[in-house]
Amino acid sequence: MTTPVPPAPPAPPPAPWYAAGLRFTCTGCGACCTGAGRVWVSLEDIARLAAALGLDLPTFAEEHLERAAGRWALKERAETGDCGFLRDRRCAVYEARPRQCRTFPWWPTTLQDAAAWGEAGRGCEGVGAPGAPLVSAEDVTRALDEERRGRARAAAGR
Ligand code: SF4
Ligand code: SF4
Repeated sequence: MTTPVPPAPPAPPPAPWYAAGLRFTCTGCGACCTGAGRVWVSLEDIARLAAALGLDLPTFAEEHLERAAGRWALKERAETGDCGFLRDRRCAVYEARPRQCRTFPWWPTTLQDAAAWGEAGRGCEGVGAPGAPLVSAEDVTRALDEERRGRARAAAGR
């Protein structure tokens, strides 16, 4: 009688292109809050922002939200496209800002490959800045996974 050979363990996933980590710091310049691009919000974001501003949900929605492509987004300034919460190039709701703002630049699009990361660096002075802290690949992946889960919740209307 022979002893069954156990199956080989699955191969470990390939190392991400950012295996050596990525440099990033937020200088608070406000550039990512300006111009084109929507800030999509989940119900969790909406509840947090409304509470931070001391508003009930209908009032918050009336003053700060709009529907776009079947989802909730923060209102923008019509003349510039800047986020409605940007004041003097600073976020007026920083502590309660939406998940999408907190997780930048750890987004699927930004982390697709080195070229996408480089492109993000053209719009954000903190992405890849030489003196910025090195964020480990593990922390980058953790933040990316959080962002993916958050996007799925927001797309599902949660
Ligand atoms: S553009 Fe970059 S550095 Fe400037 S506020 Fe946004 S994340 Fe921070
Ligand atoms: S909520 Fe704050 S951090 Fe997010 S885009 Fe608006 S001003 Fe910028």
